[in-house]
Amino acid sequence: LRALNHGAEQYMSLDSSSALHKARIDKLVSDRRRFASMERDARVDGMTQVANRREFQFRLEQEWQRVLDRQDGSITLLLIDLDHFKPYNDHYGHLAGDACLKRVASVFKSNLKRSSDLVARYGGEEFAVLLLDVSIDQATQVADRLRGALMDDAIEHQASPVNEFVTASIGVAQIDYGSQKTISDLIKWADDALYVAKGSGRNRIQATPL
Ligand code: GH3
Ligand code: MG
Ligand code: MG
Repeated sequence: LRALNHGAEQYMSLDSSSALHKARIDKLVSDRRRFASMERDARVDGMTQVANRREFQFRLEQEWQRVLDRQDGSITLLLIDLDHFKPYNDHYGHLAGDACLKRVASVFKSNLKRSSDLVARYGGEEFAVLLLDVSIDQATQVADRLRGALMDDAIEHQASPVNEFVTASIGVAQIDYGSQKTISDLIKWADDALYVAKGSGRNRIQATPL
């Protein structure tokens, strides 16, 4: 009873045969592996191997709750949307489009430095990045680093009117403990900023306030 109460998966008495023990243990191990892989699939986007939207939402709420509990801190959201990605698909095909999304995700992941930084696939060709306790200036620098790193990766995009390579537009928004705002405000602001970045030419970042 004590073992089970402390998290043991199963209790077996030693009076059964060793073959039966082995079969039971093998089954427990394979169930555990299957469960771990299902847990991972629920959190990670299968195509790009970054967090999926569900995990992102979960982490956003968790980190905001932490800010409220500590009565201090801020969270910053970068909403990233690839520029002219529909023409990319039309020009290079959907499979190439998928390969491009994988590469973009890996560029973003490898250009984020803190272990608390989270990159997620937010939608089709949209990504979201969560940064904790950074100033808006620092966040803008991170956004510009990601934008630059994507261009430096030089993924050819002949159908883009903006650049010879794949580019992204980024909206940046922040809420902090004192601001009396909510996660919904944060997402809306980042989305509004992204819209402005798109409207003013693409391949650029825009931070709120607009
Ligand atoms: P904008 O610069 O305004 O963002 O232009 P856009 O063409 O990127 O914008 P829009 O939202 O119209 O199109 C997004 C396109 O992204 C639509 C779809 O063809 C493509 N897309 C979305 N998800 C996937 C995906 O999983 N794989 C591939 N290959 N393409 C995708
Ligand atoms: Mg889009
Ligand atoms: Mg787009």
